[in-house]
Amino acid sequence: MHAAVGGSLLASILISDFCSDGGTSSQPSLSVCEGCQRPISDRFLMRVNDSSWHEECLQCTVCQQPLTTSCYFRERKLYCKHDYQQ
Ligand SMILES: [Zn+2]
Ligand SMILES: [Zn+2]
Repeated sequence: MHAAVGGSLLASILISDFCSDGGTSSQPSLSVCEGCQRPISDRFLMRVNDSSWHEECLQCTVCQQPLTTSCYFRERKLYCKHDYQQ
């Protein structure tokens, strides 16, 4: 049997600049931010796993520090490494 190790959900953050290629639009509708549930009309769209976030919504639920490169994702909330391991 394999022992599951605590469910570490480290997700990498991708920054999509979907205005850079002006030609063919592959974005038929606006993405909805997982954090505030509003459409993302900003130029930069942050992608975590399969969800999209506003740049300003991508911060730790506990300490509110901005998350820029990687984060921990649990129950649809984001945590920095420090707070995830609490
Ligand atoms: Zn948002
Ligand atoms: Zn934190």
